Amino acid sequence: MEATSAEGKLENLVVVGSGPAGYTAALYAARANLNPLLITGYQDGGIPGGQLMTTTHVENFPGFPDGILGPELMDRMRSQAVRWGTRLIEADATAIDLSKRPYLVQVDGVDISCQSLIIATGASANRLGIADEEKYWSRGISACAICDGATPQFRNEQLAVVGGGDSACEEAVYLTKYGSHVHLIVRRGSLRASKAMADRVLANPQISVHWNRSLGSLSGSDWLEQLTLLDHAGEPAETLTVRGIFYAIGHTPNTRLLKDQLPLDRKGYLITTAGSPTTAKEGVFAAGDVADAQWRQAITAAASGCQAALAAERWLSENGLAITTAREPVDPVAAEQPIKTLEVTEADFDQAALWQGGSYALRRLYHESKKPLLVIYTSPDCGPCHVFKPQLRRILNELAGAAQGVEINMNEDNQIASQAGVTGTPTLQLFLNKELKQQWRGVQQRSSVKAAIEALL
Ligand code: NAP
Repeated sequence: MEATSAEGKLENLVVVGSGPAGYTAALYAARANLNPLLITGYQDGGIPGGQLMTTTHVENFPGFPDGILGPELMDRMRSQAVRWGTRLIEADATAIDLSKRPYLVQVDGVDISCQSLIIATGASANRLGIADEEKYWSRGISACAICDGATPQFRNEQLAVVGGGDSACEEAVYLTKYGSHVHLIVRRGSLRASKAMADRVLANPQISVHWNRSLGSLSGSDWLEQLTLLDHAGEPAETLTVRGIFYAIGHTPNTRLLKDQLPLDRKGYLITTAGSPTTAKEGVFAAGDVADAQWRQAITAAASGCQAALAAERWLSENGLAITTAREPVDPVAAEQPIKTLEVTEADFDQAALWQGGSYALRRLYHESKKPLLVIYTSPDCGPCHVFKPQLRRILNELAGAAQGVEINMNEDNQIASQAGVTGTPTLQLFLNKELKQQWRGVQQRSSVKAAIEALL
């Protein structure tokens, strides 16, 4: 890779990853006047904001006594990092070169050179990849009992956990606080978990262990209702009626870009000096789940992001490499608030608006607009929607009025969503002259949506 940066300059510090570890690292570095650049990631290894973006209520992050939605917590962390001067690139890092200094990070085909680097790319919870998994994800399936177990849908209901490790056992015990009964589905005839943890599970009358069983199929309506378990031979063996199933089948750290460059453990986690964010390369630090196979909590990730930033600051100054920026004014302006979509009625509908919300706007624009019309179906606690909506607004701004957008909140306009056959969020539809031209499910690259609109102009 060429040693040039996005802005043709050498960066003090690049942070890769935008979970609690990445944003906290950037916040600390920004307050140290290091002018950090943060690569948020976009689709590789999860969405910007990380695993909390697909979590509902976070009730164990200190400072939010009534809990906070995972996506909202991440919006706040992002705003706080940006308020202090963090620059963001909303794209995936596609290559990292640590073979010599300055180090290089490739993003959107551009090589960014940096003196120091914080790797905060997180880990992705493993999925089974069975049929209908996508359909019931966050509608009965979760990868984190401690994050999601207490949600109202699971209260006093039968629940299940898949896995036989410490996480699965811990989650099964934890879920007995909320569910009426917990089924632990173990693919072998024994548990991988530590003896103490296994004993706790086996002694708990609220937990039934289903040995030598794997998950065959999922069924239900809008929400998960039933599981079929298979035996060793792959034949259906039993059916469980449950409202929730929690995957605890391990995590895969997002270290693909660092293979053969930094020492990784057997499972691919970055190896750091014990109790420190230091990696085997000078000036390269690790933070969060990418180097943590054990704790994996938002608060521990945030704490390690702080450590990594302080370590990077110290390393840069000890080596005389830091170019600090003067802050003017000394105190930054207030953080930006997320833009809320205005739900319009007949009284405030604007035929020319680039972006508005609600079924009234949709009906009017669908029938009357001659421009390409983007319709996005969202729900308030949908993390991927938080990520995708600003991207769509950006496209519409760039197209300067050649196309329009409407947001439909599924909670408010459930009927219109069901008429449109929408079953999950975010769903994006592109219309021209009342004809559906394209439909996407989940977060998409901005370039592909923009190209689809431009093809209609
Ligand atoms: P883990 O130890 O890797 O266990 C993963 C479990 O999932 C194993 O039982 C494995 O089965 C099962 N599994 C994997 N793929 C599966 C599949 N496709 N279908 C069904 N089952 C599948 O992961 P973990 O439990 O998340 O623990 C990770 C690390 O954190 C461990 O070192 C653990 O000790 C530690 N931890 C500690 C605590 C604690 O001390 N309180 C709590 C949580 C985690 P097999 O056994 O058949 O391979």
